[in-house]
Amino acid sequence: MSHEFEEYGFDTRAVRAGHQRSLEGENSEPIFATSSYVFGSAQEAAARFSGAQPGNIYSRFTNPTVRTFQDRLAALEGGEACVATASGMAAILSTCMALLKAGDHIVCSRSVFGSTVQLFSNILGRFGIATTYVPLGDADAWGAAIGPKTRLLFVETPSNPLTELADINALARLAHGRGCLLVVDNCFCTPALQRPLEHGADIVVHSATKYLDGQGRCVGGAVVGDAERVGKEVFGFLRTAGPTMSPFNAWVFLKGLETLRLRMAAHCASAMALASWLEDQPQVSRVYYPGLTSHPQHELARRQQADFGGIVAFDVRGGREAAWRVVDGTRLISITANLGDAKTTITHAATTTHGRLTAEQRADAGIGDGLLRVAVGLEDVEDLKADLYRGLAQVPG
Ligand SMILES: *Cc1c(COP(=O)(O)O)cnc(C)c1O
Repeated sequence: MSHEFEEYGFDTRAVRAGHQRSLEGENSEPIFATSSYVFGSAQEAAARFSGAQPGNIYSRFTNPTVRTFQDRLAALEGGEACVATASGMAAILSTCMALLKAGDHIVCSRSVFGSTVQLFSNILGRFGIATTYVPLGDADAWGAAIGPKTRLLFVETPSNPLTELADINALARLAHGRGCLLVVDNCFCTPALQRPLEHGADIVVHSATKYLDGQGRCVGGAVVGDAERVGKEVFGFLRTAGPTMSPFNAWVFLKGLETLRLRMAAHCASAMALASWLEDQPQVSRVYYPGLTSHPQHELARRQQADFGGIVAFDVRGGREAAWRVVDGTRLISITANLGDAKTTITHAATTTHGRLTAEQRADAGIGDGLLRVAVGLEDVEDLKADLYRGLAQVPG
């Protein structure tokens, strides 16, 4: 992160870090819609290409708008370097391609994003990188899964959709004691609520598509960490292989970062209110939200996170049929699998995000047929309650 911003608080960094004002004196960050850059002379071109002179060459390598987003997110996560990517999956892929080789081994939480499992098992697996999956909160299982070839531990906390937590400090100690790196997917919390690098994680990955954008507009991602691994290795992979972020998307995400903490505070407040309300509804047998004292890891959530996030899951009595009735009974909330949007969304996990798992795998992962996930947006919370009430009223008592 640029030292210039170390003295400033989170919100000031979110609004201002990374922008190097051009000679035009603009107040809002410009979009540099250019694929290449012009050199003053043949000698300068040669010096840029050889690396003797720093500066832009081509937007697969660097772009000023993308760099502004990277420097701002690095300042928010407290990392030395950030590399922006075309999507969240490109961030995870780039991290693995840069830091692993054939024969290496990953230990990954069982409760990670579905495409992450596909990437690790079906794609990296073909290139000789094996992955072992462990229950998120089982420290002994993590320890037992680490072998001599393990290079990387990968975790998402809180998990989707059951909001289980991993203790980042404990996992970082375990990883470092065994010569491994800890990578945390910080998509659900964002740096406004949780900064994994401060808890000892080595690398943070993001799907910027979610809360960093916050308004459901663009797909993007990022990797944050130290100058050597991220600034050099991950950047080196991206510069060659090309899953880079477009300047337009970087600009949208920059604007998203400016309001990140305010939006997260509003998501959290409404999620807390909805979760408490859901606990009192007779059609609901269980609510999963780290802010509830009934959540088994409520104390860890208080220590590790500044607030409890915008994702609430709950079990509807009556299985799939009842859960679908709730979904179809709403008229305001969007029926979609996306999250991190100003618009509240509702998802029936067993038939969408987790539909490709077998019934047994779903049962193992705790995904019941009546489970619904609500990604709480920024609408009036009373309207959200009324909408869910309309849905719940469709379930026979
Ligand atoms: C959406 C998501 C991803 C993948 O991000 P894309 O931007 O869709 O590629 C990775 N991890 C988590 C936790 C996600 O929610």
